[in-house]
Amino acid sequence: MNEPRKLFVKSFGCQMNVYDSRRMADTLAPQGYVETSAPDDADLVILNTCHIREKAAEKVYSELGRVRRLKEAAAAEGRRVVIAVAGCVAQAEGKEIIRRAPAVDLVFGPQSYHRLPQLLARAERDGKAVDTEFPLDDKFDHLAAPSGATIRMRGVSAFVTVQEGCDKFCTFCVVPYTRGSEVSRPVQKIVAEVERLADAGVREVTLIGQNVNAYHGEGLNGRPQSLAQLLEEVSAIDGIDRLRYTTSHPRDMSDDLIAAHRDLRKLMPQLHLPVQSGSDRILAAMNRRHTRADYLDVVEKLRAARTDLALTSDFIVGFPGESEEDFAATLDLVSEIGFSGAFSFKYSARPGTPGAEMSDQVDEDVKSERLARLQAEIDLQQQSFNNRCLGRSFEVLFEKPGRHAGQLVGRSPYLQPVQVTAPASLLGEVAAVTITEIASNSLFGTLAQTPARELAVLGAGA
Ligand code: SAM
Ligand code: SF4
Repeated sequence: MNEPRKLFVKSFGCQMNVYDSRRMADTLAPQGYVETSAPDDADLVILNTCHIREKAAEKVYSELGRVRRLKEAAAAEGRRVVIAVAGCVAQAEGKEIIRRAPAVDLVFGPQSYHRLPQLLARAERDGKAVDTEFPLDDKFDHLAAPSGATIRMRGVSAFVTVQEGCDKFCTFCVVPYTRGSEVSRPVQKIVAEVERLADAGVREVTLIGQNVNAYHGEGLNGRPQSLAQLLEEVSAIDGIDRLRYTTSHPRDMSDDLIAAHRDLRKLMPQLHLPVQSGSDRILAAMNRRHTRADYLDVVEKLRAARTDLALTSDFIVGFPGESEEDFAATLDLVSEIGFSGAFSFKYSARPGTPGAEMSDQVDEDVKSERLARLQAEIDLQQQSFNNRCLGRSFEVLFEKPGRHAGQLVGRSPYLQPVQVTAPASLLGEVAAVTITEIASNSLFGTLAQTPARELAVLGAGA
């Protein structure tokens, strides 16, 4: 039997890339590749890249410098290392990557992952291979499924891609160009994938998509189903205790999805709902297709449906034309809503997007100063949310051993990491925990006596 070949995959960027990296590893497993956690002894190195901001793309080139040195060291020992660049940088830059980094053998975009074995053969035969097409066949139909052992190794919480691409064309964003137009997977295939995960011990599933709540996949009755209907189907699967979904667009927060937060017990009370800005003028320039009032209205409905809903968001500061007044409107929106956390970014002009062509670009130092002010406000809100958890009890799903012996780390319903002194037998289980200490955004707790299902929830206004 041939020696197994070693595969090292490094994911940059979003959860979709993490999911894609795993599916690439699954597809290469039947070809004799086993994953390794270090690039040093790998025969194949895949960098699964992100193009969302300039910094993210530049990181790939500096990583390629390191990998090239590994390739040269291996060649000196008579060993061949293949370097592949996948993901959104690959899609956006194609052959340019090989021009800038000639050590790269293979470049392929997010829609070509299922062709990986053929692409590797092509790179072997021809020296180099580039594939950045948007093929008509559905890659999900061709990607191999992970084995039960692989699923167990990856842990009790899993991502499942249900939707890909985006038709919204926000003027700052590359996603519609790198991931293509919106496509939803059929309900039946998603349900089958989640059933397989549940059989191997997965307890929590996060349904993911670039614009996940625009989901409209074919249902069991042959008609398009909404994300709310899909969540209902998935929530009926035995063994799955927790459901989440991300990332949503405020425009697609339909009434049935809001109602799902009230009706589906397994749907966790945490929602990531990017708003980007609190200024209507900037939201319009960003082509977000919603106003500040629309966002507030959706949040009010969500909180009426589920009083303990913890909201997180994404913000961009320094979008072209953003004045101090516009930025003040963002800070004001943040105080009005009260988030449990948020990601905030300086606007990064992306080639090919309308934002990059706008004339009134904001100075970098103004962006940095605004970002610092926004992050300070968000940090305060996060601390305040965490402090409100002190003394309360809720269910925690234990995911891995903690920093110290005898400790486990789990996630609260609100997605906070919680460190608990607990027996290893609770790994992979949901148990009631009382929060006893908060230290720099980490929660600490002890196992609670109360039966898990009867715990009080954290009230939004508490
Ligand atoms: N689909 C989601 C949405 O509708 O907001 C998020 C997509 S994107 C992968 C994640 C976040 O990156 C965005 O919400 C936005 O805040 C940020 N982002 C996207 N393009 C950016 C850019 N050009 N500059 C800075 N941040 C950007
Ligand atoms: Fe990008 Fe999200 Fe806007 Fe789509 S909805 S263009 S993914 S920011």
